[in-house]
Amino acid sequence: MTVDKSKEEKLADYILTHPQVESVRGNPREILRLIEEYAPTIKLGMIIGPHRGQVIIDEIKKVNPKVMIELGCYVGYSAILFASELPEDAKYYSFEVNEKFAAIATKLIRLAGLTHKIEIFVGKASDKLPEFRDGMSGPDERFTPVDFIFIDHWKDMYVPDLRILETLNLIAPGTVIAADNIIYPGAPDYAKYVKGSPKYRKEHNMSNKNKNGTKYLGRWNILYESETIEVVSPNGDKDGVEISKCVDYLSG
Ligand code: SAM
Repeated sequence: MTVDKSKEEKLADYILTHPQVESVRGNPREILRLIEEYAPTIKLGMIIGPHRGQVIIDEIKKVNPKVMIELGCYVGYSAILFASELPEDAKYYSFEVNEKFAAIATKLIRLAGLTHKIEIFVGKASDKLPEFRDGMSGPDERFTPVDFIFIDHWKDMYVPDLRILETLNLIAPGTVIAADNIIYPGAPDYAKYVKGSPKYRKEHNMSNKNKNGTKYLGRWNILYESETIEVVSPNGDKDGVEISKCVDYLSG
């Protein structure tokens, strides 16, 4: 009995058995081009793509992050796209719950020659973020917050997982958070949260238990500046990226 291959497996086969595979090895731009070329033919709709991707690249260039994380790796498209924009000594950590997707991403990242820059944490972001946080303190216990965060997993987890990031102090003044699909399918609760005042977030967090656990209350004294950037693709599809900057902590 033959089992139908998933879209993601078909993508991996297309690239890894491509007649030109050896000529694209070590060339992230060419691997992204192959993904972009093949994705529409199999309706692989979850990748961010070059248009909204460019909005995030523009923000990455302003920050020059040394540590970037991503919630939702999928087959590694955004990891390859964004990690290749980071300085050589930077690290990109990507969280992916689906083992099969993570395995495909690992192969494509290896082909792109970015294994030294990208590390995938396989598991639910909520389970893996505390482990990641522990690994961020060196032997001297000094701890570096994350410079740039890309949120692109399931929409109902945007706020609960952001509250984990806040509680673990992974967000500090200077951290930029980019969240995808803010208009379609939309994440209205997330946009309201990051655009809300500390008072709004305090009331929100006191009256909404975090589904990841009550210990991850969130940190409402963070001051965010946040804006929705709308992007219309050449085919007319409209979506948006929310760019939120942690600018300070509310004192007192
Ligand atoms: N960022 C990818 C890109 O642009 O190429 C696309 C990510 S896709 C929209 C969302 C991914 O998030 C899926 O692969 C899904 O398995 C993963 N995911 C969903 N919930 C998750 C969670 N709680 N923790 C980690 N990954 C999760």
